[in-house]
Amino acid sequence: MASRCNAMRRDGQPCAAAARPSGYCFYHDPAFAEQRAQGRRLGGYARSNAARIHKNTPPELQDVLVQLMQALDETYGGQLEPRVAGAMATLCRAIVRVYELGELAMRVQALEERDESDEAYPRTHP
Ligand SMILES: [Zn+2]
Repeated sequence: MASRCNAMRRDGQPCAAAARPSGYCFYHDPAFAEQRAQGRRLGGYARSNAARIHKNTPPELQDVLVQLMQALDETYGGQLEPRVAGAMATLCRAIVRVYELGELAMRVQALEERDESDEAYPRTHP
């Protein structure tokens, strides 16, 4: 069994991630501080875009988006197990799929209704 990281998580529990030869996992290894700082900058960039994305997200999916953004932060910070985050991502994909099918069904219905009214008022050209 691989040894565990020597660091404590932000919630005070010992980090459960597998240790690298340094005795720390990637997220706690002092040698990776620069990469982590870059990751946080990218995270900040993602959050600054979140408001804009939020506006363009259908209202039904906004809760999903907020939860995903939070899970991303928590996974990166070690508070959420990647296994749980993976399960969340799978469920979110399923939710989005159902939403897409619903939207598609609405569009098809709208097209069919338009076709029916076209028959009542035939077009002058094909
Ligand atoms: Zn760690």
